[in-house]
Amino acid sequence: MRDQFGRTIEYMRVSVTDRCNLRCVYCMPPEGVPCLSHGDILTYDEITRICRAGTELGISRIKLTGGEPLVRRGLPDLVGMLREIPGIEQITLTTNGILLKEKINELVSNGINSINISMDSLNAERYEKITRGGCLRQAFEGLEAALTIPELQVRINCVCLSDTQPEDIIRLALLADKQELDVRFIEMMPIGLGKKYRPVKGAEIRKLLEDRFGTASVCQGQYGNGPAVYVRFPGFKGKIGFIDAVSHQFCSTCNRVRLTSEGCLKSCLQYETGADLRTLLRSGAADEKLKGVMRGIIYEKPACHQFAEGTKESGTESRKLETRDMSQIGG
Ligand code: SAM
Ligand code: SF4
Repeated sequence: MRDQFGRTIEYMRVSVTDRCNLRCVYCMPPEGVPCLSHGDILTYDEITRICRAGTELGISRIKLTGGEPLVRRGLPDLVGMLREIPGIEQITLTTNGILLKEKINELVSNGINSINISMDSLNAERYEKITRGGCLRQAFEGLEAALTIPELQVRINCVCLSDTQPEDIIRLALLADKQELDVRFIEMMPIGLGKKYRPVKGAEIRKLLEDRFGTASVCQGQYGNGPAVYVRFPGFKGKIGFIDAVSHQFCSTCNRVRLTSEGCLKSCLQYETGADLRTLLRSGAADEKLKGVMRGIIYEKPACHQFAEGTKESGTESRKLETRDMSQIGG
């Protein structure tokens, strides 16, 4: 369906847990976040019901995220349940990759279409530092396992910090040199702990890569579910993507809503407002009621976020800004 500004909303990011087996410095505090109890998070049946209602409002693509989605038991079962819903065209997953090797076959046989693996460095020591204890080898084995499956689209997501070394960026980009794998650089967004970090601009990274690999050509057409701009360097098999959420606001073409693990349907990453679908479902609401509430949230989606200074949209003054961390919202 279309929102009040005429944007078509067709993509829902579904957080299945707020728990994680890593503690990335810009996403989770070292002690983790106070975890929701099992009863607080949506069951797989509830998620499936909301996604089914979503398809009747035009949602056709689902991204499973978290926290770390693969720490929730039985995640591949959820993929299978969503796959049964008529109208779901694509189910994708964002993961840190640590548990991917052991889950990949089940995920694929249950119908996952695409997997994004977050990897901010290929230097084991630095990876361990950024993730506060993560083992790069495990994440890399997850990546290698994913790459053995020809029908699966695989991408690397990398958030650069201001002390990320040029060599680190180059090594990550080189993953796209010999294989059909897209590597995407995402600007740090001022959400939760991310507020403490300065975003490294996509343009800076592109310049660094062009100095090394030559002029990149921009890839025309829409790839993936969102606002990434893709380029290709001479001789590279894969593409390099830039998600410049801060330096290039792309709210005017935003196509997404978010469902948190406790069942809040949010229409914009930056605002706290949303609808409590869990209470609605658990109080016995019929599908028509559920769809009505979802329709209202989608329609009322704000025009834009205010990540950069000077972008405040009139009419948003009354909206409360999001105070939760990315792992709680589902990045
Ligand atoms: N645990 C999974 C993972 O790391 O891919 C899924 C959840 S994580 C919140 C999703 C993505 O959000 C990751 O790629 C992570 O790097 C990114 N992320 C977290 N905090 C961010 C921030 N403040 N700005 C930009 N990206 C962020
Ligand atoms: Fe966990 Fe992903 Fe957040 Fe890192 S970015 S702490 S892996 S949820």
